[in-house]
Amino acid sequence: MTTPSRTTVPLPLQFALAMLPVMVVGALVVAWLELRTEPADPPPVTVDEVGRGMDSISDRQNHVDDGGTWAATDVNPDGTPVAWSGCAPIHWVHNPDQMPMGALADIEEALRRVSVASGLTFVHDGGTDELPSAARPTHQPTRYATRGSDAAAPVLVAFVGLDIGDLPLAASDRAITVAVSEGNERHRAIITGQVILRSDAGEVGNFTSRARGLGAVLMHEFGHLVGLTHVGDPGELMFAQPTMGDASWGPGDLAGLRQVGARGGC
Ligand SMILES: [Zn+2]
Repeated sequence: MTTPSRTTVPLPLQFALAMLPVMVVGALVVAWLELRTEPADPPPVTVDEVGRGMDSISDRQNHVDDGGTWAATDVNPDGTPVAWSGCAPIHWVHNPDQMPMGALADIEEALRRVSVASGLTFVHDGGTDELPSAARPTHQPTRYATRGSDAAAPVLVAFVGLDIGDLPLAASDRAITVAVSEGNERHRAIITGQVILRSDAGEVGNFTSRARGLGAVLMHEFGHLVGLTHVGDPGELMFAQPTMGDASWGPGDLAGLRQVGARGGC
């Protein structure tokens, strides 16, 4: 994990224990801040963290011809983004506890938009009572038996209230995403993740306002889930903070989603 913009901290014991031997496993947490300046009481950092707000903008930004900007959260030694394999659908589950009424449709719409832009496909495996955790095991063959014993646990999408457990979600953060990658020193791929949102992260059914709607928050977090990080261009949904406009991908978002998407092959 060498992204210079990242605040690197030692992995905690419980997280280190979740790592598979001889595998390189990386986890990344990114949060989209509400517009505010000072967190009242910063939570303990439990995994290495990209950073927050404007401090979290990547210094490895890619500029595309039509003026857009995108950045991969992490790259392999050959320069390709650390991303999902495009060969298989990305399975996900949701925890309905504390999920606002109607939010499931917003999740599905946001994932549809990621899919259109990236070529990645998503499969909803239903609901779960699993709670988000910094120590979440990457493989849970008992809980997710239908996935098969070798498959990683599905992506967990969950809403939380004020009790945020062991995840570093500040009281003023709208959401946080953990993307877990696995592989060797030459190539890593994202295999699972968590997208954790505050129950009041945004207005349900609203894809017209980046500042108020849940739609933009979900699209931004799913952008993290598939391997994108923050850029300094406020025209992009992957800008570090919600801005003006509707929940539409910017030109750099679209270029980045293509790069981390199915075009990368298997
Ligand atoms: Zn973010």
